Parts: sequence; C-alpha cells; structure tokens
Amino acid sequence: MIIYKTPEEIEIMREAAQIVSRTLGKIAEKIEIGVTPIELDALAEAYIRSQNAIPGFLGLYDFPNTLCISVNEQVVHGIPNIRPLEDGDIISVDCGAIYKGYYGDHAYTFEVGTVAPEIKDLLKVTRECLDIGIAEAKVGNRIGDIGFAIQQHAEKHGYGVVRDLVGHGLGTTMHEEPQVPNYGRRGRGKKIQNGLTIAIEPMINLGTERVVQLDDNWTIVTEDGLASAHFEHDIAVINGKPEVLSTFKYVDDALNNKK
Ligand code: MG
Ligand code: MG
Repeated sequence: MIIYKTPEEIEIMREAAQIVSRTLGKIAEKIEIGVTPIELDALAEAYIRSQNAIPGFLGLYDFPNTLCISVNEQVVHGIPNIRPLEDGDIISVDCGAIYKGYYGDHAYTFEVGTVAPEIKDLLKVTRECLDIGIAEAKVGNRIGDIGFAIQQHAEKHGYGVVRDLVGHGLGTTMHEEPQVPNYGRRGRGKKIQNGLTIAIEPMINLGTERVVQLDDNWTIVTEDGLASAHFEHDIAVINGKPEVLSTFKYVDDALNNKK
C-alpha cells in the first residue's frame, strides 16, 4: 500500500532530506586522496546528530554505520572501512537521516583526484539519468515511466542498468511502496498521485548490469568489476509535479570552492 503524505508531512520530509544534503556537503569538503571512508562516516554521524536528527542507516537491518560508502566497482551498500581513498577512485556516499520520525535518503558519487574520462562520463550520465527520471514523476504518468526514461538514457550510452536494486517510497520507514525501478516500460506500474514521496536512485554500470553481493552480506559489486555510479534524490509530488526535497547545492558549492 502506498502511503501518500500530507503537505505537513512533506515539509518534515524536506527538512530530513535537507539535513542529508548538508551532510553530503560536509563530506564533499572532506573528500580527497588519503581520507578513509570510516573518517567520513564519523563526520556524517556527528553532523546529523548536531542537527537534532538520527542517522537513518545505523542499525537499520543491522547495518553497522551511518553511511554506505561504495568505491569503484562497488555499486551500493558498502561498509565504511580504513582503506584510504586513492587517486582516480569514485566513491558513492549514500546517507540517511531521521528527523521528527521521517526519513531522508540521498546519495552522490564523488571523484577522488583525477578520474579516467570514461568514468567521468559515467558519472555525468548517471546524474542526468536522475534528473530525467525525476521529470517523469508527475501526475498523469505511472511509476514505469520513471524507469523507462532512466533506462533509455543509460542504455543509449551503452551502460548497464542495475536490476536487482531499485528506488522506493520513503516516509516514516526507509523503504515503503512503491518500488521505483531504474528500468521499465512506459505506461506501466502504479499511477503517480499528489502526496507520493519516493527516492529515485539510478545505479548505472560502465559494463554489465549484473551485480553480486560480497560475503560481508552487504556490499554489492558489479559482476565484471567495472565501475558503477549512484545518485539519489528524495521527491514529493505536489500540485501534479515533482518537487526535489533534497539538493546537491551544498555538494556543488563545496566542490566548486575546492577548484
Ligand atoms: Mg540511499
Ligand atoms: Mg534509497
């Protein structure tokens, strides 16, 4: 059952999402060669708690940390470790926060040092996929239209669209109905209605769409070992149109300041 939200609930969700957006901004300031994922995790946890919020992933399904940090061929659900970031890495940072009982869930894939051109292109196209998917989240469309648009754009560039993990409804729990796949067919799936709140999160691979789970029972990696990118926003449908509750503004500002 899809739980549609009232305008008041959406405003709380906007706050939750913005806390995560600012957290990702803090991470963006910090990311450089030599920094370890576990340091980033500690920074995120401290910042989220300073905002009167609770880390959303910590303890969820027994996940051990505040951030999911997935480097290079890792797609999602990586556990922060002590391996220092290296020149040319890409690092997906996925972060959740609970504010007044509502979740924000939001991810960005960062470049470390100088990244190969083909991987830069993967990041650019995956971020475009997110925007293209969001534009489809409007009244008159169905959930399948979101995935269709994302898949078209990714496959046009020869990339693999991950099938095994999907976007989702978001609210007082992290994963609500409906599932929001990054692939699909036009006109299929549930009708999009006002009050729908979803996380749209394309996971796009340089090579095969196929993924496997490591024996830590968390980390998802590409089957062929090629890079994967992941960007995620929280969306509410308001007055028939998608409104992005999260923002990459803080990340973009931090990255521009570093240049
Ligand atoms: Mg996420
Ligand atoms: Mg999510």
